[in-house]
Amino acid sequence: MKHVDEYRDSALARVLVDGIRQVADRPFKFMEVCGSHTVAIFKSGIRDLLPRNISLISGPGCPVCVTSVEDIDKAAAIAGMDGVVLATFGDMVRVPGSRVSLQKAKADGADVRVVYSPFDALKLAQSDPSRKVVFLAAGFETTSPAVAATLGRAIEAGVKNFLLLSVHKTIPGAMRALLDTPELGLDGFICPGHVSTIIGTAPYRFIADEYRRAAVVSGFEPLDILQSTLMLIEQIREGRPSVEIQYRRAVSEEGNPVARGVLGRYFEASDANWRGIGVIPGSGLKLKTEYAAYDAERVLDIKIGESRETRGCICGMVLKGIKNPPECRLFGKACTPETPVGACMVSFEGSCAAYYKYGAR
Ligand code: SF4
Repeated sequence: MKHVDEYRDSALARVLVDGIRQVADRPFKFMEVCGSHTVAIFKSGIRDLLPRNISLISGPGCPVCVTSVEDIDKAAAIAGMDGVVLATFGDMVRVPGSRVSLQKAKADGADVRVVYSPFDALKLAQSDPSRKVVFLAAGFETTSPAVAATLGRAIEAGVKNFLLLSVHKTIPGAMRALLDTPELGLDGFICPGHVSTIIGTAPYRFIADEYRRAAVVSGFEPLDILQSTLMLIEQIREGRPSVEIQYRRAVSEEGNPVARGVLGRYFEASDANWRGIGVIPGSGLKLKTEYAAYDAERVLDIKIGESRETRGCICGMVLKGIKNPPECRLFGKACTPETPVGACMVSFEGSCAAYYKYGAR
């Protein structure tokens, strides 16, 4: 198929749904760990098309949603420092911290700038060498290589006032933590398409080898997701758990070694604090010691009080797939996309925002 409409063909979708009905002889529970998949599933009504014994549940695949309260508190503290500019992506400014969001910090006088790329933050630093520009670097493996490349450019250009507050996370560690959550009872994963263009399939092998669960790297169109669901069921029924690629038009087994090389030059694995989930060993990225001069956490004296989750928000359970957004008593009442109480309602890729926008259909 060449054109996007072909991946939305309703006749072909019916063929795939019929195929799923024929093989779904018991309950199956799969998780999509990518926010773009969550939105695509809601938008196309796939959950309603599938037989009732197939559950697709959303996981922690939205980078905005999984940024911890503590990290937002650190960013707000940095933004309030004299001679410092805090730059980040638009959605991040609305994420609630313990006391304030970055949007509120800005309203209170902190210098918070919204940028569209890390390169924009570097340009800010170059335009005013008298101030430190800290880029709040969030995102998964899809985003982090561009941040690493930007740092490389800053070093080459001799820019000394560009710093990173890295809250980057890596997906496979979170998947392992989810498999270690017995109450979830997952049969397999719809693996993230964009992240896999970078990391390839090797980092998912533990899912099949150690946990004997199914894994399929999927595209984002309705037919992609239906075909991936069928592939997952077939892996389990045939007793051959493995990591397959449905999204062949974008993903290869080896991923993108050039992007991984740039990333590995500047970053190394670290423990990371996921909102509502807690610390997952090795699931984050921090700057290597030789680049400490660009690491906001090592350069600046960041002081925050005790961090606490927003009262009443059950984002942690939503991100782990244990509860659905409507089970939160704030959903659609105090918490809407216009007035987000928790992080999962901020970004359009957040589970709560997707449920709010499309769930009633
Ligand atoms: S509806 Fe709002 S408060 Fe409730 S879990 Fe979602 S983001 Fe948190």
